[in-house]
Amino acid sequence: MKTFCGRANPTTGSMEWFEEGEDYDYHQEIARSRYADMLHDKDRNVKYYQGIRAAVSRVKERGEKAIVLDIGTGTGLLSMMAASAGADFCYAIEVFKPMANAAVKIVEKNGFSDKIKIINKHSTEVTVGPDGDMQCRANILITELFDTELIGEGALPTYEHAHKYLVQEGCEAVPHRATVYVQLVESRRMWSWKKLFPVHVEAEDGEKILIPPSEMENCPGVPSVCDIQLNQMPSSDFSTLSDVVTMFSVDFSKPVQSASTYYRVQLEPVKSGKAQIVLSWWDIDMDPSGMINCTMAPYWVKPTSALQWRDHWMQCVYFLPREEPVLQGEKLYLTACRDEYSVWYNLQKARAGVGVESPVCRCRAHLLWNRPRLGELNDQSRTRQYVQALRKVLKTDSVCLCISDGSLLPVLAHYLGAKQVQCMQPSRIDLLHPHELWQAFFKANHLEDKIKIIEARPELLKPSHLEDKKISVLVGEPFFTTSLLPWHNLYFWYARTAVSPHLASSVTVLPQSASLHMMIVEFQDLWRIRSPCGTCEGFDVQTMDDMIKNSLNFRESKEAEPHPLWEYPCKSLSDPQEVLTFDFTRTVPQHCLSTEGSVKLLRKGKSHGAVLWMDYHLAADISISTGLMQLSDEKGNCEWNPHCKQAVYFFSSVIESEIQSDPTAVTYAINFDTKTGEIAMDFKL
Ligand code: SAH
Repeated sequence: MKTFCGRANPTTGSMEWFEEGEDYDYHQEIARSRYADMLHDKDRNVKYYQGIRAAVSRVKERGEKAIVLDIGTGTGLLSMMAASAGADFCYAIEVFKPMANAAVKIVEKNGFSDKIKIINKHSTEVTVGPDGDMQCRANILITELFDTELIGEGALPTYEHAHKYLVQEGCEAVPHRATVYVQLVESRRMWSWKKLFPVHVEAEDGEKILIPPSEMENCPGVPSVCDIQLNQMPSSDFSTLSDVVTMFSVDFSKPVQSASTYYRVQLEPVKSGKAQIVLSWWDIDMDPSGMINCTMAPYWVKPTSALQWRDHWMQCVYFLPREEPVLQGEKLYLTACRDEYSVWYNLQKARAGVGVESPVCRCRAHLLWNRPRLGELNDQSRTRQYVQALRKVLKTDSVCLCISDGSLLPVLAHYLGAKQVQCMQPSRIDLLHPHELWQAFFKANHLEDKIKIIEARPELLKPSHLEDKKISVLVGEPFFTTSLLPWHNLYFWYARTAVSPHLASSVTVLPQSASLHMMIVEFQDLWRIRSPCGTCEGFDVQTMDDMIKNSLNFRESKEAEPHPLWEYPCKSLSDPQEVLTFDFTRTVPQHCLSTEGSVKLLRKGKSHGAVLWMDYHLAADISISTGLMQLSDEKGNCEWNPHCKQAVYFFSSVIESEIQSDPTAVTYAINFDTKTGEIAMDFKL
């Protein structure tokens, strides 16, 4: 079987489709999966085990046989726990074939083959009866089908079906119940992920203020959940307007309804402010008494000593459709609406009128700018740097072309006095006519006819697009929506190369150059997602480790992966090092750019991997970093750009360095292939 995989080509900026063998997809799935993270989640594992033991005991005390249904068994872990706890038989269902195969091996290796039957099906396909997959209905239902939003992975329809067809009435369920909590907050930082704030530009002839179109003001935004490591959000970045409120619960031991519904609570703000955001998380009680509780509550709600780091379950940020001023003590109604797979929120001052329709972006600006991108555009100090740099290079007769997706630079260039400004915005799949959105944006700011949108791709640029003028200033942030890794924004360099015939001989390119930086780090927690587990609660899961390792090595060379490091603290073990530079004043060379060298480990710690990021040199003395903002203290704690993802290359083995008189060195070889736009790297410890 063949599958088609889409990937953006960093040399053309466009999506390309590759035919891949059947293996490709599942290796990707396993290599990037959260299985390792779940197996490292001690708190989760211990509590599931306690809950399972308690459920098996309750059934046994009733004098019944304990027949378990484990939906989504993965490695088989929860079924093995049940078998160890004395369950008579387990039906372990797993829809993902490579995982089901792994579960068979793991169960066998741990000696449970006679107690656990792995069934490679979706639970809704499972049959019960003398000739069925299951001999009889189960009386213990175990699952772990939750995502950060609780229901996003389809837990509700799966439970609904299981109660109808696969388990007995009055069955025991582990977990027994889930509860969703919310807290109303005001946060300029988080609100900046949904709204475009007015952009202030100091121009020669006074301050100019760029505002978003009115359509955007009242738009509910996109429906996808915003899940983040809320524990990395400092308390100074938000202000809580309400206490923590229980929004709704689901009892998994009773029939579950998945049909759309809503829940409503009354709350009184503890403080006056602007209600903008609903923060949300959940907990699960493994048993009916609620004594075995596993919670995702953030640091300000529970003692830090009880925090378990995990990436497979985080916290949710929901954006209210619009900002609502609220007064301390006033009566408010918060509504959580949900369909089978997602949740959204509304806040009302009166009891009446529940808007239950799912949020859909009507203004289309939320399709052009995703949440981190809006945060970046709202970063005033970043804007100031671009303004300063533009001021240095623009003249009144400048003919300016901007190449970057959804960039405000053309508007800044116009405000700063450039004579002619055009910007390239080729159509994208998810936003077919960026032109229309820009027209609305220009209209709101009386900029019609001031900035020309060119929908052509750089290689198709014609003199007529530029009114037969040569470009004297070429600008880019650079930012492209198709970029996954930091260096994919080097597409700017390829586009610059493609438009070369249209550049004046004295052209200024901003940024003038870019540089790739690298640093060796020790992660506080992120290492867990790629680290072998060995045994989990006494069960040998090495087969899973081997499988992940095999998938990571599937394409011979390991690849760097994007992670927003502001969410994943790490400590620098080396100095940051500039490893490659890219000169945008010239065209992309034919040959590869490569470098080799070594970097000293200056601090004591575990070298988990290298972090790589790009810096852009806008003009003399003005640079923008998409990675390290600051090495904040002697211990090597790092502050990362809060809007960007950095590249993380995990080392296949970890070394522990001690500080010695002669520090350990890590050697590296890094190669930028100008034909593909990709960077390959190798490290030796
Ligand atoms: N139970 C394991 C793995 C949990 S991950 C553990 O706790 O460690 C969830 C797994 O459930 C995934 O492997 C996914 O493929 C599988 N899954 C999700 N919904 C399913 C369904 N309805 N039927 C069968 N498998 C399902």
